[in-house]
Amino acid sequence: MLTNRSKKIADRKMSFSEKIYLPAIVNGMRITFGHLFRKKATIDYPAKTREFSEIYRGRHVLKRDEEGRERCTACGLCAVACPAEAITMVSAERKPGEEHLYREEKYASVYEINMLRCIFCGLCEEACPKEAIFLTRETVSSEYNRDSFIYGKDKLVEPADPERRIDVSKRQTPEVLEFKSDRTKKHNK
Ligand code: SF4
Ligand code: SF4
Repeated sequence: MLTNRSKKIADRKMSFSEKIYLPAIVNGMRITFGHLFRKKATIDYPAKTREFSEIYRGRHVLKRDEEGRERCTACGLCAVACPAEAITMVSAERKPGEEHLYREEKYASVYEINMLRCIFCGLCEEACPKEAIFLTRETVSSEYNRDSFIYGKDKLVEPADPERRIDVSKRQTPEVLEFKSDRTKKHNK
């Protein structure tokens, strides 16, 4: 016996009640009617919608720092971590005079996520050493053609206006921030 969950099947003849399936039918109807009067587990979507969790993993945002500069340094770690190969980017060197636009000397001149490939696992967010990419509670809108699901920087980078920034504080628990800062220190050694 390999497990304690194996069940011995008796090779016996069926009784009369088993042959006419009556007890099984009655038992089946009991379960059916039991579910009929139970509180519904589903909701009448789209008339009603459920509140999403604070840490729901929806569409991504590329964050800016406190001074409004793009945080992403085009290191590519998110793309490497992505199991769906949904992220592509092109890196560029920051030019003199662009310090107010990009935080690091290297930045992503092109950054794209294919939302049809993405499985919203959040590994890109975990891999990022710059706190640059986060998943948000926003869902991906429906579209009429496939190209529209490839989100570029125009859709991903958050607005520079501090009033319109995307709040990701619920995803930045002290434990996560501590873990990331330790990891970055080790990486920079
Ligand atoms: S959430 Fe997962 S699948 Fe989507 S882009 Fe990030 S790593 Fe890739
Ligand atoms: S989002 Fe983060 S991990 Fe991805 S390229 Fe930019 S800095 Fe690197």
